[in-house]
Amino acid sequence: MRQLIAGNWKMNMLRQPAIELATALRDGAQGLACDLLVCPPFTVIEPVARALAGASVATGGQDCHTAQQGAHTGDISPTMLRDAGASWVILGHSERRQNHEETDELVREKVLAAVEAGLTPIVCVGETEDQRSGGQETEVVGWQLAGSLPKPFTGVVAYEPVWAIGTGKTATEQDVAAMHAFIREELVRQFGDAGQGIRILYGGSMRPQNAASLLAVPHVGGGLIGGAALKADDFLAIARAAQAG
Ligand code: PEP
Repeated sequence: MRQLIAGNWKMNMLRQPAIELATALRDGAQGLACDLLVCPPFTVIEPVARALAGASVATGGQDCHTAQQGAHTGDISPTMLRDAGASWVILGHSERRQNHEETDELVREKVLAAVEAGLTPIVCVGETEDQRSGGQETEVVGWQLAGSLPKPFTGVVAYEPVWAIGTGKTATEQDVAAMHAFIREELVRQFGDAGQGIRILYGGSMRPQNAASLLAVPHVGGGLIGGAALKADDFLAIARAAQAG
């Protein structure tokens, strides 16, 4: 299975730098053996998707509503993401779970709506520092998987330990190996054979320097990249590490 290297631009990038970054990725992506995706903020999805038209880099959103339209001031529906040029969407990112109190149930509803609109969801799970130091990391991730993924599930899972996001702290290869093996087991338990084919990304301070070793861990199907996705050279270096892994 090809690895997926996905960039989460978060609340960064105005129109001009976004187009420049997308153009640099388009030019640098040729010949890579992994799949590439960028998830810009809503306001620049359309120009980014336009800059990437015909290139081997897909465009996605960072969140969506559970409804396709209606009286939801300030929200964006999955259909609107599609209309703007997105084909993917990140759901249940820990910054959404923490800052917007998103529950597993809400994430599951969003996944259903996203799939209905033709988007491929990336569902994020991961424990906090306190949960890990309390030895609860697998229990927490197990609950998140059980609660956030509808049956059947057509999408990607991203394991993102909350304490590793944007902190420069990366999970050890042993921790990643143990958690990804656990997630694989859970996916097979929930979805049978189909669970074997679900890509599981690692996210949390992945950089060009640590990408090759993280991406070589069994059951790691790619990376979800925050900070390093904002520089074309870094993002492409990670993509080349995926190719080698
Ligand atoms: C993220 O926000 O999904 C992420 C992995 O961020 P960073 O790479 O900056 O830790």
